[in-house]
Amino acid sequence: MMREVAVVGAGQSGLHLALALQADGHRVTVVSERTPEQIRAGQVLSTQAMFGPARAIERAAGLALWDGAAPDTMALHVVVGVDAKPVLTIDASPGEPAHSVDQRVKTSAWLELFEERGGRVEYRRARPDDLVRLAERNEVTVVAAGRGELGSVFVRDAARSRFEAPQRALACVYLHGVGAPADAPAGVGDPARIHIVPGAGELVLQPGLTLTGTCVILLWEAVPGGPLDVFGDSPAPAEMLRRSQELIRRHVPWEYEAVLGAEPTDAGAALVGAITPTVRHPVAHLGGDGTAVLGMADTLVLNDPITAQGANNAARCASLYADAVADRADRPFDEPWMHALFARYWEHARHTVDFTTAMLGPLPDHIGLAFAQAATHPQVAARLADTYADPADFPHWLGTPEATTQYLASLPAAPL
Ligand SMILES: Cc1cc2nc3c(=O)[nH]c(=O)nc-3n(C[C@H](O)[C@H](O)[C@H](O)COP(=O)(O)OP(=O)(O)OC[C@H]3O[C@@H](n4cnc5c(N)ncnc54)[C@H](O)[C@@H]3O)c2cc1C
Repeated sequence: MMREVAVVGAGQSGLHLALALQADGHRVTVVSERTPEQIRAGQVLSTQAMFGPARAIERAAGLALWDGAAPDTMALHVVVGVDAKPVLTIDASPGEPAHSVDQRVKTSAWLELFEERGGRVEYRRARPDDLVRLAERNEVTVVAAGRGELGSVFVRDAARSRFEAPQRALACVYLHGVGAPADAPAGVGDPARIHIVPGAGELVLQPGLTLTGTCVILLWEAVPGGPLDVFGDSPAPAEMLRRSQELIRRHVPWEYEAVLGAEPTDAGAALVGAITPTVRHPVAHLGGDGTAVLGMADTLVLNDPITAQGANNAARCASLYADAVADRADRPFDEPWMHALFARYWEHARHTVDFTTAMLGPLPDHIGLAFAQAATHPQVAARLADTYADPADFPHWLGTPEATTQYLASLPAAPL
């Protein structure tokens, strides 16, 4: 049966849901604050690494339009550095390759595809009263506004929200001309590189696809007020690169050669910000009669990107919501249905919250021990890589000291 659905927000989750519902024959209205041209001409939005399971979900929905074009990331290279010297290195290959497609490329193309297929788009920034109007005209209105202000119509869930303030200052810049890391393992292509500077933060360098072709995406996860937190004035991409090179020379010098010849990919290649990880109640009541609207993805479960979960969660959430609409047949999208749907999403999302909370630190001793074992034991390294791909495994081996002890005790001796 054809249903009428409004989706507010044309990002990773909203467009995935809209395209999936459209493919199932539903009448979908998308509200987008920007046109495809404006998205392409704007700033980068994320670093958007997506792992095997989320990529498979996109593929199943016919939305994996950049398979083969975006570089596959076959390896994870993690280095812990103290006093500008590497003290621990982990090399792992995830079960399936990850990739990162600039959301300017992806969401502009998805929005065009939705329109080409006859989808209706209202171009404007929605306000709460627009949601009431949309909810009156549609059978269900889904808010996929990401970390935008509109999400505040959903009440913060204090019991599930672990933080009151950002735990990292974020700064990212997309680059051409970055070399391979000096100490990377051979034969696995360009790895994603995660450098941990205990107490100060993290540096991530990962292959990606942007408007101008393949690139390397550099992301600082700086502990606020620490030595890596130097981008608060939102510098332009060239200055962002210059300061990054200086920080790398001082704190991660083994990457310095690799970034010396780099250049920003374009005028919009830099992004600065900070996220307060927040979980919200899934249903908002608006207008005089308390009309119910449903949230999704970042609007409801917002994580710091340290564990690269948000875009992966968005794909999972979109797929779950699309399937739930199909299963509903001709029954109403009432509030019990909305709550039950979010409860199913939370079954996965809660693990991303637990994993991310742990990694924002200070790192619990048992996780530090697991990292140390991963440096010498390929099986542990592989499990760590797979936990990024699917954090549902997190509680089974990293959730408590007992789980980690039990897992490590079950391993055969490390290979010599
Ligand atoms: C620096 C950084 C790095 C990241 N790296 C990763 C990573 O490596 N891997 C990963 O999985 N995730 C990563 N993320 C998170 C990821 O980008 C998000 O979790 C994901 O995009 C969430 O999808 P969404 O659909 O909920 O929101 P978004 O993709 O943000 O989409 C929201 C959309 O709604 C629109 N919108 C907002 N308000 C309104 C309004 N009032 N009216 C109309 N439209 C509106 C916005 O313009 C946007 O298009 C990163 C985030 C940041 C900030």
